[in-house]
Amino acid sequence: MSGDFLALAQPGVQQLSPYVPGKPVDELARELDIDPATIVKLASNENPLGASPKALAAIREELAELTRYPDGNGFALKTLLAEQSGVQLDQVTLGNGSNDILELVARAYLAPGLNAVFSEHAFAVYPIVTQAVGAMAHVVPAKDWGHDLPAMLQAIDDNTRVVFLANPNNPTGTWFSAEALNEFLQDVPERVLVVLDEAYIEYAEGSELPDGVEFLSGYPNLLVSRTFSKAYGLAALRVGYGLSSAVVADVLNRVRQPFNVNSLALAAACAALQDADYLAESRRLNDAGMLQLQDGFRALGLKWIPSKGNFIAVDLGRVAAPVYQGLLREGVIVRPVANYGMPNHLRITIGLPAENTRLLEALAKVLARG
Ligand SMILES: *Cc1c(COP(=O)(O)O)cnc(C)c1O
Repeated sequence: MSGDFLALAQPGVQQLSPYVPGKPVDELARELDIDPATIVKLASNENPLGASPKALAAIREELAELTRYPDGNGFALKTLLAEQSGVQLDQVTLGNGSNDILELVARAYLAPGLNAVFSEHAFAVYPIVTQAVGAMAHVVPAKDWGHDLPAMLQAIDDNTRVVFLANPNNPTGTWFSAEALNEFLQDVPERVLVVLDEAYIEYAEGSELPDGVEFLSGYPNLLVSRTFSKAYGLAALRVGYGLSSAVVADVLNRVRQPFNVNSLALAAACAALQDADYLAESRRLNDAGMLQLQDGFRALGLKWIPSKGNFIAVDLGRVAAPVYQGLLREGVIVRPVANYGMPNHLRITIGLPAENTRLLEALAKVLARG
């Protein structure tokens, strides 16, 4: 007699679909039987610059210590982050990517009978971490593709423990202002933890997007999550962090794995954080690429959702899946977002100028085929 190990999984898990990542370059190279070097991947919001040379040097140095466990407290990185953000060391939580932080929140604060509130078209990891611990997801309809913060407030009930906000949101690129955030935080019940996911915030510096860190002192129920995967160019290493009250950080620290961030990631993140030139170049490249893609879309008669991230959701005005497939055959990988309730859009990461050109040329070719 064998058990039905799907039916035996807890109900929330049975209803989950696995996260769908961008198609890896090597996979497409095998399928098309072409050189991986000729493929352009604009599918996972990775930094097209390559990692900071300073981060690479730090990794090389750290290799000598590979036999040892990493610093489980991440002292050096936490110290730098605390300094940079103007918070205390005990307010910082390190994660194996910021996805780890989201999962720690769910494990610490959600359970069957409780719920998390988040927006339609929001980051796919919110439903995964929520349902994985048997909690309910309250998904609030989006407004103009973005978070409808007043409606999200309305969706909070007695069993809500967590609200996930993404600013800007992935895959839409939409954002909300400091005023809107402040109003939301003022009205949210104090027992609800607000997770403000700022995975792309470094790209938005100098814009109207709020810096979540500035709200931490006023709101002990706020957690800001950030990552080294995007503007800092270290997606493969998996390192992110949360900034919160010391109490919330202490709780998250109780449920995390003892060595959740590896030593190469810690060393590289410290170096990347101190490489201001790299960050500035990442931003410059992103701003220029964003304009290049918008010009290209305009020329093709396509609309898009304005974005503050390192990606843009373009509206093809028709079902996007065949266009996605057509682009693959041209050696260009982008991200279909039908699983986010956006069947007519493709999400395109801003690449290097030549990569953006390849994408636009391939898109023109595929669309011309009808
Ligand atoms: C990419 C992304 C993250 C970062 O994930 P990591 O685990 O840090 O690589 C977090 N939130 C959103 C909305 C993202 O798009």
